[in-house]
Amino acid sequence: MPDAALVRTENLTKLYPAGQRMFGRQRGTVRAVENVTLDIRQGEILGLVGESGCGKTTLGQLILRLEEATLGKIFFKERDVRSLSTGALRELRRHMQVIFQDPFASLDPQKTVGQIVEEPLQIHRIGTPDERKATVRGLMEKVELRPEYIYRFPHEFSGGQRQRIGIARALALDPDFVVCDEAVSALDVSIQAQIINLLVGLQEELNLTLLFIAHDLNVVEYISDRVAVMYLGRIVELLPVSLLSKRRAHPYTSALLAATPQPDPNAQPERSPLKGEVPSPINPPAGCHFHPRCPHRMPVCSQAVPSLAEVEPGHLIRCFLHHDGIEAVDDAHPGSTA
Ligand code: SF4
Repeated sequence: MPDAALVRTENLTKLYPAGQRMFGRQRGTVRAVENVTLDIRQGEILGLVGESGCGKTTLGQLILRLEEATLGKIFFKERDVRSLSTGALRELRRHMQVIFQDPFASLDPQKTVGQIVEEPLQIHRIGTPDERKATVRGLMEKVELRPEYIYRFPHEFSGGQRQRIGIARALALDPDFVVCDEAVSALDVSIQAQIINLLVGLQEELNLTLLFIAHDLNVVEYISDRVAVMYLGRIVELLPVSLLSKRRAHPYTSALLAATPQPDPNAQPERSPLKGEVPSPINPPAGCHFHPRCPHRMPVCSQAVPSLAEVEPGHLIRCFLHHDGIEAVDDAHPGSTA
């Protein structure tokens, strides 16, 4: 297991104003991401899982600076990403790429596949036209597409093939870090497996570091070295994937597992189902955000925010069942630690 952090966030927070302004005051705040402190280790696949709207896509976009954070820090190879100039950020973007959920929407229908995959190389003025063509053909082979497909247009390909094109484009600049944002969610199960196996092979071959964002815990469990579970903007559990089935301890993680179809329904008989809807991220429940849905809630759960504390080596939990640590809240920015 790799240990050195390639990407690190400290108290990363994103607040959006919400609702109409009344008498000059905003009526609400969406706390999309709250105080996320996270290491993504060199050469690992970190799975980030949670229900739709929990903030996982926003967290990926904050790390890539496709969205600006409200508070907190982001480090890439120990460089403070939020303090970079436009030029330095542009250079850094070579090393940090993204693969989107919907490859068709992200592929320009007017361009050939060759032009699409070559575009990042042109933007960064890398190589001569002939060298770029050779690189593009090599990338097509890496994602197991025939090099002669570079003359075709995106609409001529299946969903799985389009995702391979998106992966080839993401790899064009030889990045260190790739955010896979629901990269297989729109695909059929059999195609999902092919793309996941392709990603695993590329991650090993190229020593990539991946943040793999998904709502399907089965997929995350299959591909990841470690898993971070997110609920309403907060990381609630972080653990090595080897501990997920037997030693996960946050009630939300257990509920997510219960909601996920398992090949062997007798494997985890103690799992409790996930009840109710995700509350609105505008002014979410006080204390532990999960308390209205939690079968184990206690009076303290609605009064204080549990901290994300290490309960065994490499295993962090945000829950009063497992420790009594409390996260201090800054009243000026209720989503941030003081
Ligand atoms: Fe449930 Fe309380 Fe733990 Fe939140 S802190 S998950 S409400 S037991």
